[in-house]
Amino acid sequence: MIPEEVVRELKGKKNARVLVQLPEGLKTKAVEIAGELRQKGFEPIVSGDLCFGACDLKTLKGATTLHVGHSEFVRQENVVYWEYDYGQGLVPAAEKALPLLGERVGLFTTVQHLKKIGEAKKFLEGKGKTVLTAAGKTTRDYQILGCDAAGAVKIKGGVDSFLYIGGGRFHPIAIAYYTGKPVVAIDPFSLELQEIDSAVWEKDRALRQTKAMNASSYGILVSSKPGQKNWNLAETIKKKLESAGKETLVIYLENITPDTLLPYGVDAFVVTACPRIVVDDWKSYKKAVLLPEEV
Ligand code: SF4
Repeated sequence: MIPEEVVRELKGKKNARVLVQLPEGLKTKAVEIAGELRQKGFEPIVSGDLCFGACDLKTLKGATTLHVGHSEFVRQENVVYWEYDYGQGLVPAAEKALPLLGERVGLFTTVQHLKKIGEAKKFLEGKGKTVLTAAGKTTRDYQILGCDAAGAVKIKGGVDSFLYIGGGRFHPIAIAYYTGKPVVAIDPFSLELQEIDSAVWEKDRALRQTKAMNASSYGILVSSKPGQKNWNLAETIKKKLESAGKETLVIYLENITPDTLLPYGVDAFVVTACPRIVVDDWKSYKKAVLLPEEV
């Protein structure tokens, strides 16, 4: 059910056409959401492209974008955000994770579970835990993004471990990677539990840098996605590499995949777009791919 405030905001944009953009996990709701929009007098069109974050905002002339499942990342005209509340209770997940947690716990989740995270905090405190959280650069308290674990970094000195309640490995890996602390991750629907060891990511970082050690030419990748475009960073890296005697080639592209990088005769790539392309997928690339801070 689309919340009333979202419908009100859509009406205020005065466009009948609505481009519905859903992350992969919510695409199964497309028919239902489109039906509801039609009933309310809109003409829905569903964006069929892959969408992993609000950084990848799609727009269409004469339409309002309804971006579902993420919080605002880029401010743009004619876009309405619906964060989407799963409404799933989180206490059973906190209860199952409890034996694996230290005394001081950093607690995080994704935006779709924020409304219920207070219950998990209360439960943990009732069991004697000290629970900490913090907002990141673009996130609120308890909220984590794959590219913004700054909240977790802020409190890492005050916690023994982190608890992430949410689906997948994408977000807990970010916490482990940026804090170097152990992370317990639990899916609130399946109650599947995983322990993420940060040492693995440190090893990966070293291997990536070794792979690029003898590189004399670098492709600097700039994404055309609105929330991932980072020309200033690309310019800084270019200057840094050139002053060290390296050759550079700036490449502007929408999708960074192992195939799209194959034609370029450079020795290594630096990704100024989504950091997860490097952290999660670097092994799939033929040549070294580095994060900006690894150059
Ligand atoms: S840049 Fe990557 S991690 Fe950040 S919101 Fe976009 S897809 Fe998620």
